[in-house]
Amino acid sequence: MKIYLISKRKARLTIAGVLALALMFMLIPAQPLPEQTVLSYGVANKVIVIDPGHGGLDQGATRGEYIESDITLQISKKLAHNLSQAGAMVIMLRENESDLAGDEFTGTIGQHKREDMKRRVQKANQARADLYISIHTNAVPNTVWSGAQTFYKPKDEASKIVATAVQKELVKTLGNTKRKAAPGGYFVLNHTKMPAILIETGFISNPGEAALLADSSYQSKLAFAIFSGVAQSQLIETGSNKDTP
Ligand SMILES: [Zn+2]
Repeated sequence: MKIYLISKRKARLTIAGVLALALMFMLIPAQPLPEQTVLSYGVANKVIVIDPGHGGLDQGATRGEYIESDITLQISKKLAHNLSQAGAMVIMLRENESDLAGDEFTGTIGQHKREDMKRRVQKANQARADLYISIHTNAVPNTVWSGAQTFYKPKDEASKIVATAVQKELVKTLGNTKRKAAPGGYFVLNHTKMPAILIETGFISNPGEAALLADSSYQSKLAFAIFSGVAQSQLIETGSNKDTP
């Protein structure tokens, strides 16, 4: 039998320590964790590909001074920042105004565009990313149409969960759209091998929305809403998959 001897002074110190710890635990749960911390649990250590739509020869939709490839790059950079801060490993498919086919590519504009798209998908697949996010702006002849909308890989439940969560955050944060997440037959959604979503962040063909899309603080709101939706969807997924081997 072992007997542990403890001095009176040590005992007093130990009791004081235990009391201090108990007090700490009583106080900590009273303060909820900041939203950013909770969201971080969803994306920490996930590999996330961000694809800023268009670039290089292809500027995407343009209306006067507003250029889609420029807007998508700005929003993507802000989204990349949010996701990285939360501990995700972010792969940006372009960081500047060049596309992925590269200047050395010879061929028609159509071939160049196809090569660019193929390489975007290839990069995402090679990285074995957990999620692929493509950022675009919409354009139609009618200048009245507006509103951000999230599309997902058709017939893919995991993509649908992410898109639905992102769209919910966009509706809540932006307060200017009631659009719903929908399946989208885009090349990049059909050919990537992981859950994939594409966000049409708004209509560049609508003068009011085009001005918003080019505005840095609106871009930040968009990026945070996307980040927030993605992070929440990953928490849902983690919860539902916990018991699956
Ligand atoms: Zn586009």
